[in-house]
Amino acid sequence: MPFDTIIGHDRPKQILQAGLRKEQFSHAYLFFGNKGIGKSLTAKMLAQTINCEEPVKNGSDACGQCWSCTQIENAVHPDVFCTAPMRFTKDNIPIPDARLQIKIEQVREMQEHLVYRALIGRYKIYIVDDADRMNKEAANCLLKTLEEPPDHSLIFLISSRPQHLLPTIRSRCQKLRFTPLSLSAIQETLERQQQRSADDARLTAGFSQGSLGVAFETNPIEVRKERDHIVNTVGIDSLMQGGILQIFSASEALTKSNFTDTTLTWLTHWLRDILILQISNNPERLMNKDRFTDLAQAGERCTPKIIIDLLETIQSMRQGLRRNLNAQVQMEVFLLKLHDAFEIPTSP
Ligand SMILES: [Zn+2]
Repeated sequence: MPFDTIIGHDRPKQILQAGLRKEQFSHAYLFFGNKGIGKSLTAKMLAQTINCEEPVKNGSDACGQCWSCTQIENAVHPDVFCTAPMRFTKDNIPIPDARLQIKIEQVREMQEHLVYRALIGRYKIYIVDDADRMNKEAANCLLKTLEEPPDHSLIFLISSRPQHLLPTIRSRCQKLRFTPLSLSAIQETLERQQQRSADDARLTAGFSQGSLGVAFETNPIEVRKERDHIVNTVGIDSLMQGGILQIFSASEALTKSNFTDTTLTWLTHWLRDILILQISNNPERLMNKDRFTDLAQAGERCTPKIIIDLLETIQSMRQGLRRNLNAQVQMEVFLLKLHDAFEIPTSP
């Protein structure tokens, strides 16, 4: 059944399915949360259930097989539309491109569709992907529709940056937060649906930051390369040998070109693995199992408490980055701490 195929997101699913059973809908929804975690897919499945010819489970799920469900699946249903930031090929074929803006023409086109009642289904449904990419004119134009929504129409705004939407738009939508999936849920899905090995699936899940969409598109070989680049740049041995100069150059390398978030994610996984070995000595639970020897050696050079302190430092670095503190300076402070943590005391 379609809703069951969405991994995780139990809370939003429960709210939406309760609405389906009672046939109570908001005119507009704002689904927000990280990119690629299932927001658009959930909107599409809700559209399927609402317009399904033979809905199941007291009307709270789509059959997934009728003409209407199939048309929505193939994005050709006459009552269900999607729009997103687009660019067009020479043959005028639209290609979604999240770097672009949603223009007023796209919102006007939606409004023209919504004027009329559903042709075949029960509701006219419009899904606006990357809704925070609407330019000012488009956003103001959409606001008019949200202020006086046509009957038998539902609008879904999908956004990973809801703070970039007009407050007046946000306040007119029922908001549903989609939280990142757990690592184990992503790992299990990759093993089951893509037949990846447990080691590859665990590593890819760690890289995905809770997004199944990212995990599906990620090549474990590329991920290992990126991970190795980061952990080798902050490699304990090179920091010790290179001293303060190495710390400055590593900080610069790790913080250029918006790489900081990825760097912090890998450092967190790396330190967690060291902690797991210190506490349980169980390599099966490691995300970076292929680097077992390096992790074990690092773990012998410091205590679990030091690793926990370093993990807390990474947490506060993330908060600092959100407040726009200087990434390179923060990374320098972190690497100095790392250097001190692994320094072997010299004999008196
Ligand atoms: Zn159906």
